[in-house]
Amino acid sequence: MRIAVLGGAGFIGSNFVRYLVSNHEDVQVLVYDKLTYAGRLENLHGLLENKRLKFIRGDICNEELLEHALREFQADAIVNFAAETHVDRSINNPAPFLQTNIYGVFTILEVSRRLDVNRLLHMSTDEVYGDLYGVEGEADEKWPLNPSSPYSASKASGDLLIKSYGRTYGLKYILARPSNNYGPYQHPEKLIPRTIIRLLHGKPATIYGDGSQVRDWLYVEDTARALYTILTRGGYQEVYNICASESATVREIVYRVVESMGRDPARDIVYVKGRPGEDRRYAMKCNKILGLGWKPLVKLGEGLAKTIEWYTRNEWWWRPLVDEVYVLSDTPWRH
Ligand code: NAD
Repeated sequence: MRIAVLGGAGFIGSNFVRYLVSNHEDVQVLVYDKLTYAGRLENLHGLLENKRLKFIRGDICNEELLEHALREFQADAIVNFAAETHVDRSINNPAPFLQTNIYGVFTILEVSRRLDVNRLLHMSTDEVYGDLYGVEGEADEKWPLNPSSPYSASKASGDLLIKSYGRTYGLKYILARPSNNYGPYQHPEKLIPRTIIRLLHGKPATIYGDGSQVRDWLYVEDTARALYTILTRGGYQEVYNICASESATVREIVYRVVESMGRDPARDIVYVKGRPGEDRRYAMKCNKILGLGWKPLVKLGEGLAKTIEWYTRNEWWWRPLVDEVYVLSDTPWRH
């Protein structure tokens, strides 16, 4: 199988590429990535020399370049991770989110239509279902979309465009909606890496608001396996929620990291102003993907321990990013 991975130099994309190259000898991979602040060749460390991997620097909004790259590569499947992904940034400046997450998706759709692509797996998110605080139950794949931030609204828009291409042009898409991912190669602007790096510097961890936001925490290697499962066994024009069924508040996560790193939660945590409009609870039903034979293998405690160890050992990877994204500032957003 020849798989074109758009946005494959980011956090989940690079973990997916690593999984493919390490576990599936019959797979050839093209990584096509703009290398924004979030995409780095360092994320593909040890893979770029592999003959089964090819890298092209390109923007998904550049229709001509994207079409040329996909034609040359003769992709059997496209997996799209390319996106602007940080909610704080979407609040400060939504424009790049609309450009990449909506217009970029439109470009991929147009190119896929012309190339008659056999399979387009697109990364959506649990955030498109919006805030389930005070709501009974969990969102299944048919739950209405009710996004709250410019980020999640741009992702929901991408989903709707994709569905329309399925209905109108018969596009063979699959949508994946993972919950909060964590693990190696996640940018230091995100909660868990940020917490670990601050603690490694002797700084207190920061929590937005009171930290009561509920999320599901999915280890990125489990996501990579889930995506391969969906890509090879999933149905066309289907949506798959992906979660670990490991629900915990932000406060619980930060406490666990602080304690695992031998620090004192009473002293080493500070509370800072929350994001405006922040969702208080995400929760999904994930029976559908379990029906394909996938299940999460990494429990939360084990995943956090592996992540702390990875960041502790790989300072070379995160050191150049620390100042750029104000990891050590106590007011993490709206700098
Ligand atoms: P990331 O920010 O780490 O990586 C995004 C990648 O896309 C980077 O390599 C970046 O260079 C590339 N990119 C951005 N704009 C581009 C453009 N215009 N053209 C080409 N490449 C571009 O993101 P991530 O956390 O790995 O998330 C990947 C996908 O999964 C996103 O679609 C995101 O919405 C979704 N998702 C993420 C999570 C999570 O917890 N991280 C959860 C659910 C869904």
